[in-house]
Amino acid sequence: MDERDQKRFERRLLGLRDELNRLIRAENGEVESGRDSMDEVDQATELIEREFGSLIATNARASLEKVNAALERLASGEYGKCQECGVDIPVKRLEALPFALYCVNCQQALEEDSQ
Ligand SMILES: [Zn+2]
Repeated sequence: MDERDQKRFERRLLGLRDELNRLIRAENGEVESGRDSMDEVDQATELIEREFGSLIATNARASLEKVNAALERLASGEYGKCQECGVDIPVKRLEALPFALYCVNCQQALEEDSQ
């Protein structure tokens, strides 16, 4: 992954973090006065669903933790490497799931373990 890819993923992750924060705040009812909180939730949910799929929107808090972990990994230069086996995670996978921490093989193995 070159520097341009890193910057691109950083921008996406920061945008996603903002939307998730907005969604969580809106769900908690902590929205700016004068705005309808349901509108805030709908808008943030819609934006995240459009770009990343409904699973992320319905697990906003868990997703936010993963986004923050991915941003830390970007800062330390570890981003895009599988946390389990160390291979480079394909850029295509990161485009679909910018906060992925594992390659497909390790992800599957971990999911089987937890079942
Ligand atoms: Zn792996």
